[in-house]
Amino acid sequence: MALRTADQYLAGLRDGRFVTFKGERVKDVTTHEHLGIGARHTALDFELAEMAEHRQLFTWTDDDGQTHSRYYKRPENSQDLLNRREMIETSTRIGDSVVLLVKEIGTDALFALDLVSRVVDAKAGTQYNKRVAAFHQHCRDNDLTLAVAQTDVKGDRSLLPSEQEHPDYFVHIVEEREDGIIVRGAKAHTTGTPFVDEIIVLPTRAIAEADAAYAVAFAIPVNTPGVKLLASPFGGGHSLGAFHSPVSSRHRLVDTLTVFDDVFVPKERVFLQKEWQAAGFLANTFVEFHRFTAISYKPPLCDLFIGAAALLAQYNGIHKVSHVRDKLTKLITWTETVRALSRAAAFDCRVTDFGLAVPNIIQTNLAKYHFAAHYHEAICWVQDIAGGLVVTGPDEADMASAVTRPFIDRFLGGAGVNAEDRLKALNLVHDLTASDFGGYNQLLSIHAEGSLEAQKITIYRDYDLDRCKDLAAGIIDVEWK
Ligand SMILES: Cc1cc2nc3c(=O)[nH]c(=O)nc-3n(C[C@H](O)[C@H](O)[C@H](O)COP(=O)(O)OP(=O)(O)OC[C@H]3O[C@@H](n4cnc5c(N)ncnc54)[C@H](O)[C@@H]3O)c2cc1C
Repeated sequence: MALRTADQYLAGLRDGRFVTFKGERVKDVTTHEHLGIGARHTALDFELAEMAEHRQLFTWTDDDGQTHSRYYKRPENSQDLLNRREMIETSTRIGDSVVLLVKEIGTDALFALDLVSRVVDAKAGTQYNKRVAAFHQHCRDNDLTLAVAQTDVKGDRSLLPSEQEHPDYFVHIVEEREDGIIVRGAKAHTTGTPFVDEIIVLPTRAIAEADAAYAVAFAIPVNTPGVKLLASPFGGGHSLGAFHSPVSSRHRLVDTLTVFDDVFVPKERVFLQKEWQAAGFLANTFVEFHRFTAISYKPPLCDLFIGAAALLAQYNGIHKVSHVRDKLTKLITWTETVRALSRAAAFDCRVTDFGLAVPNIIQTNLAKYHFAAHYHEAICWVQDIAGGLVVTGPDEADMASAVTRPFIDRFLGGAGVNAEDRLKALNLVHDLTASDFGGYNQLLSIHAEGSLEAQKITIYRDYDLDRCKDLAAGIIDVEWK
């Protein structure tokens, strides 16, 4: 099969999968009142690949003349990584700042599995790399979508998997058979699971030998018996409509508590089975690729912050005021630092001896940290410029009422702008910063792709301190090694 259409993709999601929303089983995720918004959002991925103006960026033709989704192109050099970041930034911009994430995160995991399985095979004599390559080809040739369930529910954060109150807080192997394994446990906040064909499961952290059963990686179709997806209601603006929620009424991510209730995984889909020494290596390698995806999809939301703030500065008649210019400049600086670092991470990539380009770790983590560390501050700048009407403005019904509309038109206009357009701009800021969706984005900025501390740990761990120590020691003429 070549590329799928959006309709073919959506039809594939009607496969009997077990998804719940607010305690009730969902019959069809594509037509569900809330989840359907997420499904139509992710279908954009397939629509873009069909559009003449985007086809070249979103597809790639291999040496045999077969055309595939570009997400499945294994990065071999800086240009491949630049193309990938451009594709992710473009699709997110067209998604009005909401990333699609039905191929991005899964291919991040495929690249990490390719790298790690080679090392494990060489040390343990396993055959995982062939299985990873076969799975990659299967996804590419069938134009499939993928979620990645890495973050375990974890219980007590200070304890190892086997030290927890019960053994199932982390996903683990409960039975090994000739033809595969049985797994049990749950993963938290898995994004996009109701809207993908396959779930890739990876370990969260490094573990000790006593916890070898928790060193497990695999991929299975979402409708596999025993897989249960409890969809979160947060992050949508459907009920308020397009006037109040211009972005979130049309675009949303859906995350699930992903339960593995004694799930059978056939052995050709198992990519790590108790090789406990590799659990942390796999977890970190995935993150190296996934944080690059993160910093590729962040800029469109930052751009929207700048645009909405600049528009409202004009509508409020304060665009020439120095503190407003200062805040807009800070927003621009924040945005362009993230964008520039994401490009730098592609330029300064590391190419492995088997030809896989890995984005620069320091620059990737700096970009993610810089974005997250200043996100709430950026909201403060935007809200400051916008003013209190962001949360005190009238309802859409007031706009439609002959009783109230004349007052709105008379009293809520701005500098050279009518009341309706000004309220639309204010509602955009409400949606992005003061709504359920805005709050969701705040948590996403901090925690998705790893918390702030995770980036700091990585920057410290990977930075070449010795190079700087050499420099200092050389100037004062001392030996330190
Ligand atoms: C919107 C969103 C989407 C996401 N999508 C996905 C996804 O698709 N797939 C996926 O696998 N994950 C996903 N995540 C999970 C994300 O990677 C985690 O939220 C993140 O790694 C933090 O883990 P946590 O939520 O369990 O928080 P916690 O681990 O509870 O972190 C809370 C605080 O505790 C600290 N902490 C935790 N453990 C320790 C410790 N041992 N020692 C010291 N400090 C500690 C952290 O640094 C942080 O400050 C998503 C998260 C969000 C918010």
